[in-house]
Amino acid sequence: MDLALIQAAYIIAGLLFILSLAGLSKHETAKDGNNLGMIGMLIALVATLWLALRGADPLNWLSIATAMAIGALIGIWRARRVEMTAMPELIAMLHSFVGAAAVLVGFNTFLASDAGASDGVHLVEIFLGVFIGAVTFTGSVVAYLKLAAKISGRPLMLPARHWLNLFAGIISLGLMIWFVASHSIVPLGIMTAIALAFGWHLVASIGGGDMPVVVSMLNSYSGWAAAAAGFMLGNDLLIITGALVGSSGAYLSYIMSKAMNRSFISVIAGGFGQDGGAPTGDVDYGEHRETNPDEVADLLVHAKSVVITPGYGMAVAQAQYPVADLTAKLREKGVDVRFGIHPVAGRLPGHMNVLLAEAKVPYDIVLEMDEINDDLPETDVVLVIGANDTVNPAAEEDPNSPIAGMPVLEVWNAKDVIVFKRSMAAGYAGVQNPLFFRENSAMLFGDAKDRVEDIIKSL
Ligand code: NDP
Repeated sequence: MDLALIQAAYIIAGLLFILSLAGLSKHETAKDGNNLGMIGMLIALVATLWLALRGADPLNWLSIATAMAIGALIGIWRARRVEMTAMPELIAMLHSFVGAAAVLVGFNTFLASDAGASDGVHLVEIFLGVFIGAVTFTGSVVAYLKLAAKISGRPLMLPARHWLNLFAGIISLGLMIWFVASHSIVPLGIMTAIALAFGWHLVASIGGGDMPVVVSMLNSYSGWAAAAAGFMLGNDLLIITGALVGSSGAYLSYIMSKAMNRSFISVIAGGFGQDGGAPTGDVDYGEHRETNPDEVADLLVHAKSVVITPGYGMAVAQAQYPVADLTAKLREKGVDVRFGIHPVAGRLPGHMNVLLAEAKVPYDIVLEMDEINDDLPETDVVLVIGANDTVNPAAEEDPNSPIAGMPVLEVWNAKDVIVFKRSMAAGYAGVQNPLFFRENSAMLFGDAKDRVEDIIKSL
């Protein structure tokens, strides 16, 4: 009876996860999607605990409850403290936990079972689970360090790096055959060391501007690691949940790599970042022009159409509220205001959409890059608010640029471009932006939130 109820709870949780993903695919339903996911996870947790503890001795209950309470406290403390801008590194860190858990579950399953009696399929499950877990673990740690700017975002260019990856893959395959044949922990241990190094190298060799694809790829890997742990533990729900995360993450990686004009296969293979193009940071693009809030306000009230292209700096400044306010004021004056969102603007997939939704900007004026690019030549003013790499013409014009080939918002085609930022510093990819030196561009220096508020006052 107990088991039937638990299975029913698993099916309900699985359905809620699927509905949650469906909800998350649209702005309007994203909140409901999140709620469904949380309810599903609550049901899943209760059912799994019930399954694990049926007839178990009270000491087991106590140790699991203590571990969960400590984990929940740390999680709540961290989630309450984290800044929106630090979300990507938090997510990368969480992915690394999933990877580490899969490795521990793998070793534990192997050591706890009677190795001599384990069948080949089970051993392959353990081997693959540990492999994926170890790659996810170190890959996510490197992603965390890069996103938190604790190590350089520049790609690590080891000689023959693709061969190194291939070699690691082939050796691991050999080790798997040895493991299944010998039932010994030695090949499992050697493979774990190789997979840890492989995961590290995979992400270390990817350049700064390509990190979005890596983040979604690691998201996918963490799902497969969880699914592998589900196979090892014989837990159907973990398999379903892991497969949902794994496949939706893989699909997101596909969308992101298409948006960045990269091949999906080379993303999965890793190390597809820069191939050593000369950095454009030191090129002399001439003089830039500065403007002030009054001039910008004047330009805006006389404009017919305005496009706002936000980027990571809007998130740092938390400028979305005054930006929404400015939008409403201009629309009241009859100006056609729309937003152009680059798929990798900010530091998370959908980062800008979340911020604009938070500030209650109407969804119908928030357009994607492909939808707005053709309209930019007919646009009077573009406000580039804390965006840099995503509006960099070097991506189209300089084949040596590290971001060469990445589609960008072609804001320079508008009549006037106002760039909100604090200095002439480069963006995330570390390359200078020739847009700032164009004749129709003007820099509005300072914190984006303060400057937008100044413009509102001046209107
Ligand atoms: P960038 O990171 O290229 O540039 C942001 C700009 O904002 C900086 O040049 C900075 O200039 C400015 N800025 C920072 N703080 C403020 C502030 N308080 N007020 C005003 N301006 C500010 O932004 P984009 O969004 O254009 O590009 C995103 C980059 O991040 C891409 O390279 C993408 O590949 C990468 N990335 C994206 C991920 C994703 O999933 N979306 C994940 C990982 C990486 P200054 O310091 O002079 O103010």
